[in-house]
Amino acid sequence: MSKRCTKCGQAKPLEEFGKDRSKKGGRAYRCLACERERDRQRDPVRNTTAARREEQWAKMATQRARSFDAPAVEVVRRLDVFQADGWICYICDDPVLRDLDDYLNPLAATVDHAVALSQGGSHTMANCVTAHRRCNQSKSNLDVDDYLANQAVAA
Ligand SMILES: [Zn+2]
Ligand SMILES: [Zn+2]
Repeated sequence: MSKRCTKCGQAKPLEEFGKDRSKKGGRAYRCLACERERDRQRDPVRNTTAARREEQWAKMATQRARSFDAPAVEVVRRLDVFQADGWICYICDDPVLRDLDDYLNPLAATVDHAVALSQGGSHTMANCVTAHRRCNQSKSNLDVDDYLANQAVAA
């Protein structure tokens, strides 16, 4: 026994349709896959591409911190870090780009750890800071004071 979904037009087994007593035959007109898709689209905040990307970033950052055996690991969302720092690079004090799509730009916003993970730093909001891509990369694992001192020597 199968039924045709009014949304995708596919004939599917009855079990693929949610029970709905208000509908003829006691089943929903749309298949479960189409209902899930509709629910997904109805949740605009959680399901935009950008929001998913941020969650993905937070997850990857957490995993990376765990791989360093960081003493404390919490879920850090980079937008929270950037907003907390006013979109200012903590290394050079200049504004970072707010456009997260332009991530290869040397002025792109990145999250750095004030105390590097490799130096036993934690992955927490308190230890996460905003840095330009260029500043973050040139700093590598130096702590920021060492970095600034080296820069002064080099200049
Ligand atoms: Zn369908
Ligand atoms: Zn900078």
